[in-house]
Amino acid sequence: MTLLLESKVGMKKLSDVYRPGHLAVSIELFPPKSATGEQSLYEHVGKLIKYSPDFITCTYGAGGSTRDKTLEIVREVKSRFGIPVASHLTVVGSTVEQIRDYLRQTQAADIDFIVALRGDPPQGQSSFVATVGGLQHANELVELISREFPGFGIAVAGYPEKHSEATSFDSDLLHLKNKVDAGADVVLTQLFFDNRDFFRFRDRCAAIGITAPIVPGILPVTNLKQIQRIATLCGSKIPQSFVSDLSRSDAPDWQMKVGIEFALDQVNELVLQGVLGLHFYVLNQSQSMLAVLEGLQIRSPRPA
Ligand code: FAD
Repeated sequence: MTLLLESKVGMKKLSDVYRPGHLAVSIELFPPKSATGEQSLYEHVGKLIKYSPDFITCTYGAGGSTRDKTLEIVREVKSRFGIPVASHLTVVGSTVEQIRDYLRQTQAADIDFIVALRGDPPQGQSSFVATVGGLQHANELVELISREFPGFGIAVAGYPEKHSEATSFDSDLLHLKNKVDAGADVVLTQLFFDNRDFFRFRDRCAAIGITAPIVPGILPVTNLKQIQRIATLCGSKIPQSFVSDLSRSDAPDWQMKVGIEFALDQVNELVLQGVLGLHFYVLNQSQSMLAVLEGLQIRSPRPA
């Protein structure tokens, strides 16, 4: 399926992004720790832009530790590349007034969307404790944004393999429904490697009346050790056959090749099964995502 290049200028609603007949592509970045990392990030975004992503997001570090950097990066991506951007925002370590303040700054910077999250407990804490004067769960953040900052499109997190703290799959789904009912436009999922988990999750969301698009989170693997660390943190399981394939050689080229082939197969099946979008965790790189988009032919590259 080859979709025509589209102009993104002036498009600010998530409901415009996720629409039948269009496969939306979003890319998630994280704030680099060094100036070199930041320069490299913009170089990679420059390459990814070739395939006209619909929007680019940047994560928000634990306890708001990257607050300024997150905003700086999304602002810079929008100004350099002229495409819609989303700032992630968590409630960890912030009072409601600090959250409002960040949203005001984000609004003033013309950021299009917010990925509204609770966030993980800060390092050293085993469970999440709300800040005094702060919020407890992501649904409260979605309510606040919808009520006080209605111009923002809102994305929330969903978990095909269940959130690690949830007491049951059913309760996790009900909490997800609360977020959507509070005003979220789209659900971006945690990364996963077994499409059956995603399809089951999507079916169960539909069964309880979640009508917002459920967009799979895809991480094209480039390194086994790295992904094993990330998957443990995210609570995502890696199929044993995939681990075995990756383990056949430590050579970076091999690992990248196997990762790209796996991601291509995964995404091909998701597209055939009618997903409205793909959310790519690119770890601030571009090579593997470009290979996946080239392999899928879901976009015509922009002329050089
Ligand atoms: P919630 O929706 O609040 O859910 C957290 C837990 O509480 C779940 O177990 C849920 O079932 C339960 N729950 C929810 N609502 C209620 C309620 N009202 N009453 C009782 N229980 C409830 N983390 C970051 O720190 N920064 C980021 O930028 C970031 N970006 C992410 C992007 C995506 C697409 C995804 C999938 C995750 C991201 N995360 C990020 C990780 C996320 O913050 C963690 O997974 C966190 O533990 C949960 O966040 P949440 O928004 O899903 O929380």
